[in-house]
Amino acid sequence: MIWSKEETLERKNIEEIQLSRLKNTVNRIYDKVPYYKAKMDKISIKPDDITSLEDLKKLPFTVKDDLRANYPFGLFTVPKKEIVRVHASSGTTGKPTVVGYTKKDINTWSELIARIVSMAGVDCTDVAQIAFGYGLFTGAFGLHYGLEKAGAMVVPTSSGNTEKQIMLMKDFGTTVLVSTPSYALHIMEVAKKMGIDPINGLDVRLGLFGGEGSTEAMREQIQKGFGILATENYGMSELIGPGVAGECECLCGLHINEDHFIPEIIDPNTGEVLPPGEKGELVITTISKEALPLIRYRTKDITRLIYDKCKCGRTLVRMAKIEGRTDDMLIIRGVNVFPSQIEEVLLNTKEIGPHYEIIVSKNGYLDCMEINVELEDTRLLDSYANLDNLQNKIKHNLKTVLGIDAKINLVEPYTLKRFEGKAKRVIDNRK
Ligand SMILES: [Zn+2]
Repeated sequence: MIWSKEETLERKNIEEIQLSRLKNTVNRIYDKVPYYKAKMDKISIKPDDITSLEDLKKLPFTVKDDLRANYPFGLFTVPKKEIVRVHASSGTTGKPTVVGYTKKDINTWSELIARIVSMAGVDCTDVAQIAFGYGLFTGAFGLHYGLEKAGAMVVPTSSGNTEKQIMLMKDFGTTVLVSTPSYALHIMEVAKKMGIDPINGLDVRLGLFGGEGSTEAMREQIQKGFGILATENYGMSELIGPGVAGECECLCGLHINEDHFIPEIIDPNTGEVLPPGEKGELVITTISKEALPLIRYRTKDITRLIYDKCKCGRTLVRMAKIEGRTDDMLIIRGVNVFPSQIEEVLLNTKEIGPHYEIIVSKNGYLDCMEINVELEDTRLLDSYANLDNLQNKIKHNLKTVLGIDAKINLVEPYTLKRFEGKAKRVIDNRK
């Protein structure tokens, strides 16, 4: 179902809305945020210089460190009394980045999530179980309000406690699962151990997945193992939380809510804007947020934009599945490697399961990559020759894709770590 008329506007009309909202946003940050004013003054740009969407590229980028430098509320454009909610994203080190919402922002957020979940096929007959952790993280609360708005019955189980999670899924007749893709895999496995067939023993028909990237191969594993349609949605707390973009039932890229976010694709090294369709780093400008508008926020996510009309009837531009993050990229013996490339190869090998671990270390001056991957079936362990063949096959396929050698360790089923939130599959011991 198409939730709002803005999803099907002609490009000309979308661009009109974008320009007017962009001008407002730029005026607002220039007036209210000394940090942005100083940044713009430094390159001699005034809000009046923005007269077309083309002018967007004259504005400076915003990066995560700008939020850290203004911790906690320095980039807010409204006084604290107008803020009704804060969230924060965990930094691996030091202070988190803090984001704030006015009443209007919270409404916009619910509206955008309602759009995205409707896009994926949710309606008022659905029972939606939210297995994202509730707390400072934006994922759970964002989906929560939007799913209620769309009329679904929300079951806020939060993450963890997997057996109880599955019991409630069965008893409440959950039809929609909200979680990370990794947690969906884990739920699937635990259900089987409990004697519940994830396909026929549960009513789940749709997954709304986010919080981490995943490959098409991973989607396939989840769809097959769970018997569901696995959709992906995209966002990040700095931009609003989930709700920036989402997949429709055609599964051919994520529609960006362009009347609220302007996407650009840049060359991550030079910062230059790339022509439509080219692959690079996604940069987003928020144009409807009150409390914390961000200009040209560098997401570090690598993707490309697709402007062809989608079969679903929406005219909103689509972003292709994220290929990786600029800071996830491993440089191994001088070769750029995205963990997603490795995942694609592993998951397309039928003898092994979807659980793996990538370990990078140094042997003297030389980078070494080792991959631990779980066998799907213990029977393979009975034959050395079979194991050897499988190991060589994976090694060969990885070499074809990456151009480098990796050591493959096949391990028994259920021996690698499972994840209730974002998966951490790469261990880089070189740092
Ligand atoms: Zn579509």
